Amino acid sequence: MARLEELIANEENIVLCLGNEAIARGAIEAGVQLFAAYPGTPSSEISTAIISASKSLGIYAEWSTNEKVAFETAYAASISGIRAMTACKHVGINVLADALYSAAYMGTKGGFVLLVADDPHCFSSQNEQDSRWLGVSAQVPVLEPSNPQEAKEFIKKAFEISEKFEAIMVVRSTTRISHARSDVQFNTYETSYSEGDFEKGRRYQCLPALARANHPKLVAKMETIKEWIPESGLSIIEGPNNSEFGIITSGISYSYVKDALEILNKDIPLLKLGLVAPLDEKTILEFAKDKKNIIFIEEVDPYLEDRISALLIQNSLAPKIHGKCTGITKRYHELNSRLVAEALQGIIGGELSSVVDIQEAEGEITEFIPFRPPLFCPGCQHRAAFWELSKVVRKNKGIFASDIGCYSLDPWVTDTILCMGAGISMANGFSRVIKDRPIFAYIGDSTFFHTGLTALANAVYHKANINVLVLDNRMTAMTGFQPNPTEVIDIADVAKSLGVEYVVEFDPYDFENGKKIFEEALLHEGPSVIIMRKICANEWWRQQRRSGQKIEVYQIDPEICIACGTCIVQYQCPAIHWSIDTNSKEKKYSVIDPSMCTGCSVCSQICPVKAISKAVDENE
Ligand code: SF4
Ligand code: SF4
Repeated sequence: MARLEELIANEENIVLCLGNEAIARGAIEAGVQLFAAYPGTPSSEISTAIISASKSLGIYAEWSTNEKVAFETAYAASISGIRAMTACKHVGINVLADALYSAAYMGTKGGFVLLVADDPHCFSSQNEQDSRWLGVSAQVPVLEPSNPQEAKEFIKKAFEISEKFEAIMVVRSTTRISHARSDVQFNTYETSYSEGDFEKGRRYQCLPALARANHPKLVAKMETIKEWIPESGLSIIEGPNNSEFGIITSGISYSYVKDALEILNKDIPLLKLGLVAPLDEKTILEFAKDKKNIIFIEEVDPYLEDRISALLIQNSLAPKIHGKCTGITKRYHELNSRLVAEALQGIIGGELSSVVDIQEAEGEITEFIPFRPPLFCPGCQHRAAFWELSKVVRKNKGIFASDIGCYSLDPWVTDTILCMGAGISMANGFSRVIKDRPIFAYIGDSTFFHTGLTALANAVYHKANINVLVLDNRMTAMTGFQPNPTEVIDIADVAKSLGVEYVVEFDPYDFENGKKIFEEALLHEGPSVIIMRKICANEWWRQQRRSGQKIEVYQIDPEICIACGTCIVQYQCPAIHWSIDTNSKEKKYSVIDPSMCTGCSVCSQICPVKAISKAVDENE
């Protein structure tokens, strides 16, 4: 990552940084004064960067408990005349949508930017929802940058447009913009921040009568923005003007098209849209009027294709449309330069030979590197907790509704994963229709505060006979170890204050105690909350190493080990591997890599022949 000093240096500089850091720098250069966000890959580094820089800049920034809280916090600042911003991953939009749709009606005062990072290909997400549709459904302008430099500039532009039209601006990134690393030109910025000033009145009350009046104003606002786009410089036409073909694209797809045309050695007219909502109809019609073929290149949904095809028909233009409707690209997963070159080749010709086939290259590599599913880290407290639970769940044919977090990696007990906070609500639902089987919900500490609280209140209210297991690892680990309310709020106190009668805590490494507690909880009528509290093993390991503390690792006695595989194959701690006989290729015994072991002790508790023990430090 770019260093904090580089990120906030108020000077002209070219800095090698992540797309997300470029976005953060754009916000700083734009003079953002309030920033609030909930972490979510691929957006998290934006928030990490701005929150780390906030103290030095003298601005307010926070990790909020969820995306809706973050949006509303930022919105209050905006309507007080302050430049404000929030950032989230695409599914975070579903959490904040309630506020967004109404706020769009009422508009803004200080510039307001909602950065959303979509995740085509589901690299770290549960779906591929395409946030460009917000432009249609929520009627908010949507900017789509095509590289990290443009992402930085578009954030600044977004604040300007927001203030010019009093509109909530969405800037849509995708994983390949957010996580790309490139040289980005940083510019100097103003640091004269102002005080907020809220004017009393009825403008910001979304009451039915006011909403009825506001909706036509919002429709008119989007029309005004649409008329303004041609003079904004956000729509760019490139290439020759005498071709029967024309390509329309936006965002990262534009970068793939540029690569693809170079691969194919073709020069085709290209319209790149910076604002994808509202659409720059004037420029689009001008571009399309003399073309016989319009090619749409975009990821996931046929957003541009559907909307622009309708526009062309309405204006009596009938070029042949090539896009998802003709199958040149898929309606799912991400694109790349090769896929786009293949899609274009079938229409405009050219040679593909100069480009690497990524799938072929992957095939060559996987001959040497075996496929491994993502695993819990060495010493992970989630693995220990799930190991204990798996016995209870299997024995009782329990149903296990899990949630979103590192613990989604569980290989043993999970039955359902839906969305943030769904574990407790789904457990409630199961408990109403499944008889004589224990129902478990599993949730992390951050998700508990994100959307678990309301579900737990509902479970208490309706006396759901469920066992809620909270894994409190003291942080939001999956998205980069962000802090969360566990710093100041005790989950046990919260559960008790919500009316849960059976609340108990234990250390997930303590198997004996855990077994007793699970058995006791199963006998309890009504909701129980079991908190397994242990700092994230990965973070603990880093803290120990940074502070020079010794880690007491474990070792395996090769004379005792019977190579049963319990610690490697079943428990799956990545710190343990086989020692293989080089002649017979047989597994002789297992070995612990001391550079990876966190000393959690769990393997020593589960080894059936007690071959594992604390390593003796010969220096002592
Ligand atoms: S003690 Fe055992 S289970 Fe724990 S990290 Fe070390 S090798 Fe893995
Ligand atoms: S569980 Fe014990 S006996 Fe089995 S492979 Fe591991 S160290 Fe060897």
